[in-house]
Amino acid sequence: MTTTKHLPRPVTDRWEWQLHAACVGLGSEVFFHPSGERGAQRSARAERAKAVCRSCPVIRECREHALAAREPYGVWGGLTEEERADVLGDQQQPIAS
Ligand code: SF4
Repeated sequence: MTTTKHLPRPVTDRWEWQLHAACVGLGSEVFFHPSGERGAQRSARAERAKAVCRSCPVIRECREHALAAREPYGVWGGLTEEERADVLGDQQQPIAS
């Protein structure tokens, strides 16, 4: 009998959490700042995104993904790119334009 134990798991197993995300249907502008946005406007955008994340049932999975993939931009799992860099102990700040 053929065994499939050695084969990689189906890709959907790794991404299915996204189907349950609170951000489904929201525009990317909620989570990704435009080039050059700084200061209070940028902070307010990040706080609005984090509020969505706080209500998200898959925040843990999203955060784990973002940290593992070193997502360079945007709010993922309730963390901004700068906060993820801090968690990862990155010496360099992300390229935030
Ligand atoms: S934690 Fe935030 S960015 Fe991640 S899936 Fe949920 S709402 Fe979207």
